[in-house]
Amino acid sequence: MANDSVEVAVIGGGAAGIAAARRLSEAGVKALIVEARSRLGGRAWTIEAGGFPLDLGCGWLHSAKRNPWTAIAEAQGRTIDRTPPPWARATTQPGMTADESAELRAALWALHGRADALPEDERDRPLADLLEPGGRWNALIDAISGYYSGVELARVSARDLGRYADDGVNWRVVEGYGATIAAHGAGLGVAFDSAVTRVDHGGQTIRIETTRGAIAAEAAIVALPSAVIAAEETLFAPALPDKTRAAAGLPLGGDDKLFLSLVHADEFEPEVRAFGKLDRAATAAYQFRPFGRPMIECYFGGALAADLERGGEAAFFAFARDELTGLYGGDFARRVAPLALHGWSGDKFALGAYSYALPGRADDRAALAAQVDGRLFFAGEACSREDFSTAHGAYLTGIAAAEQAIKALRRRSR
Ligand SMILES: Cc1cc2nc3c(=O)[nH]c(=O)nc-3n(C[C@H](O)[C@H](O)[C@H](O)COP(=O)(O)OP(=O)(O)OC[C@H]3O[C@@H](n4cnc5c(N)ncnc54)[C@H](O)[C@@H]3O)c2cc1C
Repeated sequence: MANDSVEVAVIGGGAAGIAAARRLSEAGVKALIVEARSRLGGRAWTIEAGGFPLDLGCGWLHSAKRNPWTAIAEAQGRTIDRTPPPWARATTQPGMTADESAELRAALWALHGRADALPEDERDRPLADLLEPGGRWNALIDAISGYYSGVELARVSARDLGRYADDGVNWRVVEGYGATIAAHGAGLGVAFDSAVTRVDHGGQTIRIETTRGAIAAEAAIVALPSAVIAAEETLFAPALPDKTRAAAGLPLGGDDKLFLSLVHADEFEPEVRAFGKLDRAATAAYQFRPFGRPMIECYFGGALAADLERGGEAAFFAFARDELTGLYGGDFARRVAPLALHGWSGDKFALGAYSYALPGRADDRAALAAQVDGRLFFAGEACSREDFSTAHGAYLTGIAAAEQAIKALRRRSR
């Protein structure tokens, strides 16, 4: 790689970086993705286990009707599953009636409604402040916050969540969302196993130092997870303290999936969900028979996910087994076995699952997305004002950064 020279270096080959590099290549710009891992996709990752494609990262095409990955998956000949998600239907589990399930969903939507209604000129606050005082479902809503924000309500900006845009339609790709995103990068120039250690933007060209040599570029698109930018204070030379600060306002929450094989799975309806416990934040959500498959997708969020990561797969499995036997009886332990897990907080090229904004820091998304000197551009889900934390948000920021880079290169060549 020594002395490689490109027009635009795209740092990070996740959904954002792939979208940016493809757009650049369509515009005839010589671009190279510089990726630390030996695969594309980042937090989008489909593996094969138990005879099925399993998404360890993103799985749902959120806002599916306007989600650009829906059309991309279809163009790749993949199958879109339009079954409504478990969270849009009543929870079916021991210890909870249909009325209680409806009550829980109403309490959750009411909380989101209060966040949506927070006037832009009013002081931001933790989402926990908008809970109904003493509300019956507050602890479980805290657990659910762990699933969609990766963190408990006390650490989430109400303003940021209020800005999130959701068309309420959620679909899946049967062959895998991660596989779709990685395949969209096929044919693009990629330097794999090349962790970027420094982006030197002090000279005439930008010098990108990696663990496998340096690259010179006229412009760069930084499409790294916000937590990685925040952790690497010396990433930019000269330093960009405003960027590092903005990234620190947008940490990545903890979310991990454990897939379990399930014997006699037909006893359960496909696609139903149960919570391990109803009265605490430290509980997992269990989706039975996703796509009708004989397995359980266990979803861990917030502090619970981060704690369990310290004990590895054995700790996740022991926790899930205990909660499941608590729900379905001691014999249930014999029916489940671990198939796959990935710990995203301990993954040094992610440092978490998806971004949330700390209270008072919602505007850090725009600060992180802002270009520097017309040649350093930024992309990644954390840069999105309305579609943050998602793979389609990442895609849209990648396209936006590529358009900025194309415009800047054209201006310069005039
Ligand atoms: C468990 C889980 C469930 C999720 N569920 C959903 C879902 O259902 N729907 C949804 O839309 N989203 C979901 N997401 C979020 C979604 O996966 C992410 O928002 C999206 O994939 C982020 O894309 P990105 O390009 O911004 O970042 P990334 O995918 O993280 O891409 C950044 C890239 O930078 C690379 N990198 C890191 N450090 C360096 C370095 N120093 N040098 C070079 N390269 C580096 C990484 O390897 C990575 O490839 C989920 C994520 C997780 C973890």
